[in-house]
Amino acid sequence: MFEGLSERLSGILSGLTRRGALTEADVTAALREVRRALLEADVALEVVRTFTEKVREQAVGATVLKSVTPGQMVVKIVNDQLVAMLGAEAEVIDLNAPSPVPILMVGLQGSGKTTTTAKIAKRLTSRDRRRVLLASLDTRRPAAMEQLAVLGRQVGVETLPIVAGQSAVQIAKRAMEAARLGGFDVVMLDTAGRITIDEGLMQEAADVKAATNPHEVLLVADALTGQDAVNTARAFDQRLGVTGIVLTRMDGDARGGAALSMRAVTGKPIKLVGTGEKVDALEEFHPARVANRILG
Ligand code: GDP
Repeated sequence: MFEGLSERLSGILSGLTRRGALTEADVTAALREVRRALLEADVALEVVRTFTEKVREQAVGATVLKSVTPGQMVVKIVNDQLVAMLGAEAEVIDLNAPSPVPILMVGLQGSGKTTTTAKIAKRLTSRDRRRVLLASLDTRRPAAMEQLAVLGRQVGVETLPIVAGQSAVQIAKRAMEAARLGGFDVVMLDTAGRITIDEGLMQEAADVKAATNPHEVLLVADALTGQDAVNTARAFDQRLGVTGIVLTRMDGDARGGAALSMRAVTGKPIKLVGTGEKVDALEEFHPARVANRILG
């Protein structure tokens, strides 16, 4: 990911740094190319517009420090704006609430939601020493419930026993009660996914949210779907109030637009990224490091 964009931007910016003096026309021409490179990487148009506007304002008004060339100055401004666009600071899952802390996992079917739930449970268990209880609320797909149970065993995390005939809200309440009685620190509620956003899906997740008052509502979105991932995030956030995003398939050959647009469009932080099918292929999202990787 980001390779194509990184190559393009490095090319454009190294053209600037090689020059001694820069005119406003040089900056404008370079920014036009930056804009095109970002759009080709599938970054949302509104985000590209704001980004290039901010870089232009700062680049034109900047007093060039003696220690750097004007071109290097522009590169620094681009870097800083990239970091700002990505959210500045890395954000982590917030567990600062009375136990058991409910975490609601939402997202479309196939986004990697169930795998990500297990990945996070593993991380919370082994790294943060929390006792985690997993529960699948996918009442329409017994296979999904079984998948979570299998993944739970694989990562050594308990799953709530499956009881046929219960609604998603009933299962969620049972999970909270079992966690209270069993002394668990965290309850991860894996809601049902659908192929597309539909009212039934949203209503069910909203009902579960109302019944459990989750401390985190984490949206799992597939980076390979680009702008669709961003639109999905916006729709889920409007309806459910998302607290963070986990972007999966960052190991794939997506052009990077979803990762780059997500924060600016939704206002919500990318908290983690999925980087493979294995249960430990989960990483934190560090805006400064990502910007560094993009600018080479
Ligand atoms: P769900 O329907 O949203 O619960 O999706 P699943 O968790 O069943 O995942 C669907 C497929 O995507 C599975 O084959 C996962 O192994 C795979 N998957 C999930 N996350 C990632 C990721 O970060 N990278 C890659 N390459 N595959 C992933």
